[in-house]
Amino acid sequence: MEETFRLGRIGGVRIGVNWSVLVIFALIAFGLAAERFPASYPGRSTAAYVAAGLATAVVFFLSLLAHELAHALVARRNGIAVEGITLWLFGGVARLQGEASSPGAELRIAGVGPLVSVVLGAVFLGLAAALGAFDGGGLAAVAVAWLGGINIALAVFNVIPAAPLDGGRLLRAALWRITGNRLQSTVRAAQAGRVFGWLLVTFGLITFLGRGAFGGLWLGLIGWFLISAATMEGQQAVVRERLAGVSVRNVMTAEPETAPGSMSVATFLEDYLMNHRHSAFPVTDDGGGTVGLVTLNRIRQVPVAERHRTLLGEVALPLSDVAQASPDDPVADVLPRLSGRPEGRCLVFSGGALVGIVSLSDVTRAIERMALIRGAGRI
Ligand SMILES: [Zn+2]
Repeated sequence: MEETFRLGRIGGVRIGVNWSVLVIFALIAFGLAAERFPASYPGRSTAAYVAAGLATAVVFFLSLLAHELAHALVARRNGIAVEGITLWLFGGVARLQGEASSPGAELRIAGVGPLVSVVLGAVFLGLAAALGAFDGGGLAAVAVAWLGGINIALAVFNVIPAAPLDGGRLLRAALWRITGNRLQSTVRAAQAGRVFGWLLVTFGLITFLGRGAFGGLWLGLIGWFLISAATMEGQQAVVRERLAGVSVRNVMTAEPETAPGSMSVATFLEDYLMNHRHSAFPVTDDGGGTVGLVTLNRIRQVPVAERHRTLLGEVALPLSDVAQASPDDPVADVLPRLSGRPEGRCLVFSGGALVGIVSLSDVTRAIERMALIRGAGRI
């Protein structure tokens, strides 16, 4: 899922939000303000319930963020670059730019998230008990108790041994430690993820159809998401295996043709594009430094009448939004950076200088070649 807007950075990790998070935020705030709070602490004004509902939903998302941030920071400590954290419909995702290098690292990265949720849950429950002991609690105690419960529930759900949940990664780490076979462990964790996903879908549908409970539909949706994510993880594991030992240097187009940012779109189309066989060009500034990437898709968005007035530098994707790699990075690590990006390109830098460009089709060709070399079938 793409991030719709950015919230900023915490500890150097980019925090973003997908629009779908608003759906779950509204559901939680509304559910608390309209049902939970009035039921357990009646007699307050609607405004008080709404304020408490909104505040509780905000703190819930902060605890979710703490869970993901823990994954991200521990991943970084274990040598894995972190692209950022996105909050969305089904919670949060910490996007890591590589894989754990050992079962121990996997265990630490996966385990710390649920651990943070358990600690937060315990703190909230303790706080709720303390508030209750003072003055009968009030709305604040009910809200804090809910936060305690939901964080514990989050931790418990997340350690279910099914990919792509944290528990799936823990299972993978354990199998990897025992068997020494990373690929097989990943495939097994992905299978467990699909089985668990189908269980959720089945149980959710039965609850929804049998009792008309919308919670059942929600459970089914989560199950469906788990099935597709687990399937993707299994396939990615096979691809990683195929690409083992292949580095960015082996598949990149070296010294790519660049286009000056000061060139107009019209000149680019008339004089430049037909003389070059590529469809994406790194854009340079006057000093020759790379400042972005222009693709035909971005050019297409410029109205014909505007082409003379518009410069390439203005339509280029800024460098900070372009996937980047270094020549010695494993290609398998580049694949996640490319997926979900419409431009489908990764710029390769060495010592700050642009040395190459990798497209999604470069990677696909490499996978096919490696499959041929290693005698494996198609996937
Ligand atoms: Zn987690």
